[in-house]
Amino acid sequence: PVTKGSSGVLLLTKEESIRKPMQDCIRCAKCVNVCPMGLNPAFLMKFTIYKDWEKAEANYIQDCIECGSCSYTCPAHRPLLDQIRLGKGKVMGIIRARKS
Ligand code: SF4
Ligand code: SF4
Repeated sequence: PVTKGSSGVLLLTKEESIRKPMQDCIRCAKCVNVCPMGLNPAFLMKFTIYKDWEKAEANYIQDCIECGSCSYTCPAHRPLLDQIRLGKGKVMGIIRARKS
């Protein structure tokens, strides 16, 4: 269903919707250059995988607007937004707990 929180509907062909296998990061910085929030998606993904919430917060993971540009542009097909979204949720929970 389309709900109040839906920001758009994207229609893809079957071929376009298949995720390509993830490869190692080649440090091309395309994800950094494309991020509208000035974040380093490659690092934020790494911090999330290693559960380094301090570094994730210090590198402003909570500022990610979840546009998906980093994942889209990554030539290594790394699921940057998937991981950043997980890390962002965790860090937001830590920030809320600290404030209460
Ligand atoms: S775009 Fe992909 S391959 Fe390039 S630096 Fe970012 S995560 Fe690494
Ligand atoms: S999804 Fe987040 S980290 Fe990735 S480009 Fe958009 S704002 Fe930057």
